Amino acid sequence: MLQKKVIIVGGGPAGLMSAQIIANAGHQVKIYDAMPNFGRKFLLAGRGGLNLTHSQSFEKFVKNYFEDQDWLEPCIKEFDANDLQKWCHELGQETFVGSSGRVFPKSMKTSPLLRNWLRKLDNLGVKFFPNHQWLGFENQDLIFKNRENNLIHEKSDATLLALGGASWPQLGSNGKWVDILSTYDIKIAKLEPANCGFVVNWSDYFKQKFAGTPLKSIAITHNNITHKGEFVVTKNGIEGNAVYALSSYLRETIKEEGKAILYLDLRPEMSLENLEKKLAIQNKKSFSNYLQKAGFANYTNSLLRELIGLDKINNANSHELANYLKNLPITLIATSDINRSISSAGGIKKESFDDNFMLKNLAGVFVVGEMLDWEAPTGGYLLQACFSTAVRASKGVLKFLEKM
Ligand SMILES: Cc1cc2nc3c(=O)[nH]c(=O)nc-3n(C[C@H](O)[C@H](O)[C@H](O)COP(=O)(O)OP(=O)(O)OC[C@H]3O[C@@H](n4cnc5c(N)ncnc54)[C@H](O)[C@@H]3O)c2cc1C
Repeated sequence: MLQKKVIIVGGGPAGLMSAQIIANAGHQVKIYDAMPNFGRKFLLAGRGGLNLTHSQSFEKFVKNYFEDQDWLEPCIKEFDANDLQKWCHELGQETFVGSSGRVFPKSMKTSPLLRNWLRKLDNLGVKFFPNHQWLGFENQDLIFKNRENNLIHEKSDATLLALGGASWPQLGSNGKWVDILSTYDIKIAKLEPANCGFVVNWSDYFKQKFAGTPLKSIAITHNNITHKGEFVVTKNGIEGNAVYALSSYLRETIKEEGKAILYLDLRPEMSLENLEKKLAIQNKKSFSNYLQKAGFANYTNSLLRELIGLDKINNANSHELANYLKNLPITLIATSDINRSISSAGGIKKESFDDNFMLKNLAGVFVVGEMLDWEAPTGGYLLQACFSTAVRASKGVLKFLEKM
């Protein structure tokens, strides 16, 4: 086999996986990243427990990619949740399945995995170029700017871009590639917050007193889709797992209607009738006490007043009160800033790349990971799609090089 030169731009999980496959096939791989070190967002992902993938059946798994399931399914089948766990084990990191079915490395962190992975890539001969920001193409060359502001021209036989989305730009993925690739008439859906918090117009009193309060064991519903879990009240709104799970629907409703209503159930495990009975037998003299005796957290009184209004709450009978406690409407007026969202939606549209993830308008340039236009909730679906698209595209690179 004739060794060829492949340039990878972007050293997150998608770029590093591509480097592994292409270097393993015997080619010369150079990987560039704008940041001083590689896998920064991957490291952050491990801070709250690195959720690599999910153990549910393949059929259920792929439903999490909404309408992008069609084109993502074949590549996730090619490198699925079992393959991802095997890869992790080969890097010396055992995995386990949590009670929710989510898969984590036993250490829960990214750092031991990333350390072993970078060592393996080094042994495969991959050359790392941190502090190199990709500025675009000039004729066939890739142009980088290094820390000293020097321009560097690179030639390659194939190029793979793994530049990420636009959340947490301080970690390197800032979405600036959109301007570069748009000039080649590549179709790109706007990068928007996904798995994000939302803005709520809390009163000054409520935000001062309750910002940072977690609401646990709740359920939230929007457009008949319900998620159980928890979220946190923030100064500007709400964020947390239950909210992230509904974020794509909420974002779209806000786009269409200017706001979205989320219905909060503070007692999801109890029916309306049973709650009404429980409330009816309590003495209502002190309202706060009354709610606490019925088992509600101490923020409940203020939350009811904030969302329903003092008069209505004061005059509510047990039936009305039970109804409020199980259907508290929260009005969301905007998504929180993309800078703090877990991921971004939008990116390069499927119509702009072929089944091997090569750009139709730029022969020899492949694209992978979060910079593609797909979206998924948290649960390991994000990293799985980044890895699986990287595997398919890298095989595409190898086929492309064979034909040269
Ligand atoms: C707080 C947090 C927690 C998360 N937890 C999980 C989790 O538990 N499970 C899960 O599945 N997902 C999780 N994610 C999402 C996951 O981390 C991302 O989906 C994943 O990192 C995307 O991988 P990627 O390789 O496509 O892009 P990235 O990891 O974003 O990497 C892109 C790389 O490209 C580089 N780059 C960008 N532009 C340029 C340029 N012009 N020149 C050179 N380099 C450039 C960047 O510096 C970066 O290193 C989490 C995300 C966050 C923010």
